[in-house]
Amino acid sequence: MRDLLPLLDAIPFPALSRGKLDTLQVNVGYRCNQSCFHCHVNAGPNRTEEMAGEVADTVIEFIERRSIKTLDITGGAPELNAHFRRLVTAARARGVHVMDRCNLTILEQPGQEDLADFLAAHGVEVVASMPCYLQDNVERQRGKGVFDGSIRGLRALNARGYGRDPQLPLNLVYNPQGPALPPGQAALEADYKRVLGEQYGIVFNKLFVLANMPIQRFGSALVTKGEFDGYLQLLQDAHLDANLAGVMCRNLISVDWQGYVYDCDFNQMLGLSLERGGREHVRLADLLDDDLAGNPVRVAGHCYGCTAGQGSSCGGALKEAAE
Ligand code: SF4
Ligand code: SF4
Repeated sequence: MRDLLPLLDAIPFPALSRGKLDTLQVNVGYRCNQSCFHCHVNAGPNRTEEMAGEVADTVIEFIERRSIKTLDITGGAPELNAHFRRLVTAARARGVHVMDRCNLTILEQPGQEDLADFLAAHGVEVVASMPCYLQDNVERQRGKGVFDGSIRGLRALNARGYGRDPQLPLNLVYNPQGPALPPGQAALEADYKRVLGEQYGIVFNKLFVLANMPIQRFGSALVTKGEFDGYLQLLQDAHLDANLAGVMCRNLISVDWQGYVYDCDFNQMLGLSLERGGREHVRLADLLDDDLAGNPVRVAGHCYGCTAGQGSSCGGALKEAAE
């Protein structure tokens, strides 16, 4: 894997500072039952990095002390972490909204047979990657058998009320196959709903449309194919200042499996740690009594992936999300 930070750091991006923190995104480890081509965390079945119990304890303490409104749990396949269910239960007991970044196929992995019931019982929002409604496109990006497994996963969630019950939101995530800007969110969501509904009887709430980030496996492949500069230029040409106000690093911090803190998940993957008072490698335990409002965000060229065109945040297109 190439170190892309020097390339990205050489590209100027407008200064950003933090607003009020309301969302804690926790990456509980890189183990995953899949190894998708575009994966920005480079996850897979052989990764061994896992959040330990003491770090999970700090996450729970932080949620309480900083009055966090949303806990966004990601990975790898976050459900594989031994503390996943404890984090969910503790956050829900404190009235915190919980999002599970679920890859759908995890729902039928051995040992996860009761996962759909657990998620539904705790009112967890499921955010699931589904890069296309066509089998070939999904499997080119995410591996053979993933499309059928994803459809079975969506059906299992629908059977528990997901996508129908307002307390059980089921949202899908789309990202383009290659170095192109994503299409409009509203039109694509309508297509997804029509095809998945008519052909598979599946219902869901929203489609979040995200640009591919030029980092990790996807970014390295762009460099190898000589497409990195062209893709970065495409993102920069499509940048809109209006999207700067809605980028997720303004109200979210991202914590890695060891408890180190970053301005977002993408910075985490680049090893670009949050800076506080001139210090890098800040840990969540150091911030229990700290208000980060006004703190500068570490930005670089990849940030154009958040501000190009309709913009991308963890909640999909910024422009359409605001409408
Ligand atoms: S399912 Fe998600 S975390 Fe796992 S390899 Fe694919 S993109 Fe990465
Ligand atoms: S990648 Fe996006 S969310 Fe992360 S620091 Fe840059 S603008 Fe903010």
